[in-house]
Amino acid sequence: MQQWQLLRGDGGTPDVLCIGAHCDDIEIGCGGLLRQLCAGRSPPAVHWFVAVAPAARATESRRAARALLAGAARFSFEAHKFVDGELPYAGAQLRRRLRDLARRLSPSLILTHWHGDAHQDHRCLSELTRQTFRDHLILEYEVPKYDGDLGRPNWFVPLTAATVTAKIETLRTCFASQRDKPWFEERTFRALLRLRGMECRAPSGYAEAFHISKGVWKAS
Ligand SMILES: [Zn+2]
Repeated sequence: MQQWQLLRGDGGTPDVLCIGAHCDDIEIGCGGLLRQLCAGRSPPAVHWFVAVAPAARATESRRAARALLAGAARFSFEAHKFVDGELPYAGAQLRRRLRDLARRLSPSLILTHWHGDAHQDHRCLSELTRQTFRDHLILEYEVPKYDGDLGRPNWFVPLTAATVTAKIETLRTCFASQRDKPWFEERTFRALLRLRGMECRAPSGYAEAFHISKGVWKAS
C-alpha cells in the first residue's frame, strides 16, 4: 500500500487543526485518523476548535480528545459558546474567530465538516473554514445523522482494528450526555466505518472517509 505522510516542508512538526460545530463531531468524524496520526512516527501538534461547547459538554470533548490524541506533540483546546443550531446567524462573529485562528496557526492539515452536510451548523462552519483557510489542505469529515445525508467521499483513511476499538470506546465512555440519543451507539459508528472500509479495500475492513475539494501537489 502506498503511504502519504503529513510533513511540513521544513521537516518540522506538522500542525493539525480540527474544527467542529459541536462537542463529539470531531471525534465521530475523524477520531480514528487523529489517533493514528498521533501514534505515528511524526506525531502532530493538534489544535481543537469547537464552536458550540457548553461547559459540561466541553469537558466531555476535552477528555475524548486527550484519549484520541495520546502521543501528540502538543494539544490545545478551544471551546466557544455559540448557540446550538444558530451558527448561520452568528456567521460574522464565527468568521472573526476563525480568522483569529488563521493568524495564530498555519496548519499542515485542517479537518472540518463536509460542506454538503445537512446540519446547518456543520455546513456553516465548513463554508467559513474554506473561506478563511484558502491555501491549506482541508479534509471534510462526515457525521451520520437522522437526516440521512451521507455523500460520496473521495479520500479514505484505513484504520487498524485497534484504532476502531479505541475510537468507539472513546465515544462510548466519554459522552455520557449523548447516551440517550438512539443513534449514538456502537452499531452506528462501526457500520459507517465498515462501509467506508469496504469502499477502499481497507486491510482491517474499516476506514474513515473524507471529502477533499482541492489539493495541490508541490513537487520538490
Ligand atoms: Zn454536530
